[in-house]
Amino acid sequence: MKIKDIQNWERGFIKRKGVSLKKEKQTRIAVFKLTEEVGEVAKAILENRWDEVQAEVSDIIVFACKIANIAEDFYGADKLENVLKRKIDYCNIRKFNKSSIKFNKPKNKEFK
Ligand SMILES: [Mg+2]
Repeated sequence: MKIKDIQNWERGFIKRKGVSLKKEKQTRIAVFKLTEEVGEVAKAILENRWDEVQAEVSDIIVFACKIANIAEDFYGADKLENVLKRKIDYCNIRKFNKSSIKFNKPKNKEFK
């Protein structure tokens, strides 16, 4: 499954379920739900319920894709898959410093 598939599923899901909220309300709900889902992952790990972690991570991905859809559909943002590609390309050129336990941050405005 590709990120675009998840985004398209989310767009269709909203239509099929008849969700018709203003973009500001959709955004607020999506951000709060994303935050809630991050908490659910943390709670599952803290309580050693590793069998639930993947489902909670899936919820994070869906709400992150919803936020990306809002950015694309209402605010003209670049497609998430394009940004992800640039991010991955940027990560691939970063070097890990063992003593500082950090990756460097090469300057390249193309990767922002
Ligand atoms: Mg959840």
